[in-house]
Amino acid sequence: MGKKLTKRSEDYSKWYNELVVKADLAENSGVRGSMVIKPYGYAIWEKMQAQLDRMFKETGHENAYFPLFIPKSYLSREAAHVEGFAKECAVVTHYRLKNAEDGSGVIVDPEAKLEEELIVRPTSETIIWDTYKKWIQSYRDLPVLVNQWANVVRWEMRTRLFLRTAEFLWQEGHTAHATREEAIQEAELMMNIYAEFAEKFMGVPVVKGLKTESERFAGALETYCIEALMQDGKALQAGTSHFLGQNFAKAFDVKFATKEGNQEYVWATSWGVSTRLMGALVMTHSDDNGLVLPPKLAPIQVVIVPIYKGEEQLAAISERVEGVVKDLRDRGVSVKFDNRDTHKPGWKFNEYELKGVPVRLGIGMRDMENQTFEVARRDTLEKQTVAADAVVDHVVGLLEEIQENIYNKALNYRESHITEVNSFEEFKEVLESKGGFLSAHWDGTPETEDKIKELTKATIRCIPLNAREEEGVCVYSGKPSKIRVLFAKAY
Ligand code: AMP
Repeated sequence: MGKKLTKRSEDYSKWYNELVVKADLAENSGVRGSMVIKPYGYAIWEKMQAQLDRMFKETGHENAYFPLFIPKSYLSREAAHVEGFAKECAVVTHYRLKNAEDGSGVIVDPEAKLEEELIVRPTSETIIWDTYKKWIQSYRDLPVLVNQWANVVRWEMRTRLFLRTAEFLWQEGHTAHATREEAIQEAELMMNIYAEFAEKFMGVPVVKGLKTESERFAGALETYCIEALMQDGKALQAGTSHFLGQNFAKAFDVKFATKEGNQEYVWATSWGVSTRLMGALVMTHSDDNGLVLPPKLAPIQVVIVPIYKGEEQLAAISERVEGVVKDLRDRGVSVKFDNRDTHKPGWKFNEYELKGVPVRLGIGMRDMENQTFEVARRDTLEKQTVAADAVVDHVVGLLEEIQENIYNKALNYRESHITEVNSFEEFKEVLESKGGFLSAHWDGTPETEDKIKELTKATIRCIPLNAREEEGVCVYSGKPSKIRVLFAKAY
């Protein structure tokens, strides 16, 4: 299995990169910034998808699929949008290769130039709003509540497995509404769904908030977000939900006839979470021994490892284990009985620890005699001996306990890493010594925000939705401020 993981305290970033690869989640490919998601990593992503998809459908959304390629002219229709995405667009210019005449290999055929160049979608507002023009004529056609699961490409310069890749998997919801209020409600609803998913399923506490103008999505009037805090004190934007106003309806001329017979532009939202959530999951809970997965998203919730010599002992253990496996499965628990003869129990113990399997059951000849199992939990690494006839109930309860425990641990960390600061000196001092979120007064101008970023690398993560009004002065400019915002260094 190779040498041990780098410790988080030594080099957090190295620890993360090693862990993602060693735990078989993903690896780099021959294309810079593009990753291969391995079966174990993909299994976690599938569980995330399944749960999110359920939540989207429960709130009235349907899935559809739109093309990967977007005509270049579409992207330019909304000025702020193209401005925001232009710098990271991959562009298709030709549709054919041919053999070079000098025999040097295959080249792009200069005669196969596309009439209109195509963009590989960095996000799909433009092609979707071009389609909605055909779908929406009257108030009876509204709302349109559509989501798509897809890949997108943003030519990112600094990439890192899951957290920031050039191609990533995500879902993007695109909705159309008759009124401003309804669209805002939708954007807030989806932010709340993301927050619920992050907290209840991933076990990752998040702050809900609004982005400042400079951090807003290109083309949005308002960006709602959920922000999480990683174990190294850096923040991670885990999901965004945008109120787009009528910007895209105007750019693509999407109007509807109101009940009164007037023609009005449609109101829009879009919202997305990506494979970045995998990075958030790893960085929030894992330790120096490997992954720690929340039971609700773990592909294998319980692994059973037999400790035996010879086929006869294995046969006896297998017979005892069979009933437990069946009972656990009947209770909806995913179980793996690892009876492979090719690996030693110690190797298996390490492997499942590295892969973050929440509960491990060990059973050897002494357990056979005593009618017990050894139960090990991954989050605290504690072990306990449990009677065989009570083990199923015990494990079901333990899975719930682990889910709750890792959330509370992350929440305690987050709570102890929100620091109120009241001067720029204090700001810099806390940022360097402790990190985390700094709750500070800000004068509301992009100039101050930029200056603080330039001097400290900290950005405004969000204006928390639960922030209360309070008289204060901006930590940088000393100008009056009515609300504290959250600053942090971020991924
Ligand atoms: P946006 O469309 O920019 O609001 O992003 C939607 C979601 O995708 C957000 O949750 C982002 O955190 C995530 N995201 C943005 N860029 C990347 C990237 N390069 N790799 C992975 N996830 C990303």
